Amino acid sequence: MTSSACPCCSGLSFETCCGPILAGAPSATAEALMRSRYTAFVRHDLDHVERTHAPEIRDDFNRAEAERVADECDWQRLDVLRATEEGDEGTVEFLIHFRRDGQDMRHHERASFRRVDGQWLYSAGEVNPKGEPRRVVKVGRNEPCPCGSGKKFKACCGR
Ligand SMILES: [Zn+2]
Ligand SMILES: [Zn+2]
Repeated sequence: MTSSACPCCSGLSFETCCGPILAGAPSATAEALMRSRYTAFVRHDLDHVERTHAPEIRDDFNRAEAERVADECDWQRLDVLRATEEGDEGTVEFLIHFRRDGQDMRHHERASFRRVDGQWLYSAGEVNPKGEPRRVVKVGRNEPCPCGSGKKFKACCGR
């Protein structure tokens, strides 16, 4: 990693990745916006987080709390698990790895985004979403399901 590597772990430089979005350029995709919001936390640029909330949730944003979180957490890594888009609606499921109070923590969220006038906005988020991404596991149909339900695979996720 060079000093200009983007904090969002895209492998790109900050200048070609989240930098322009934090500076106000519209993000090309919902995923790019999500990444830039993570980067905004890493860089303590909460203006960007605040202005990319959809109007209906803007009142729920607690700026002081967000700044405290940004300060207290040691951001380690962002994993985008899945990103889908259909027209002006996007969903991004992600894991954020961070340290807080000396402990390794994870934030798992499935976030919804909406594009308004060419600008993606964060509109909703489900933390610890139900329905994990399908794991690609080769499992016999009569073996226990890998999801941990205790049922046979064929009677559970293998149906
Ligand atoms: Zn980035
Ligand atoms: Zn199962």
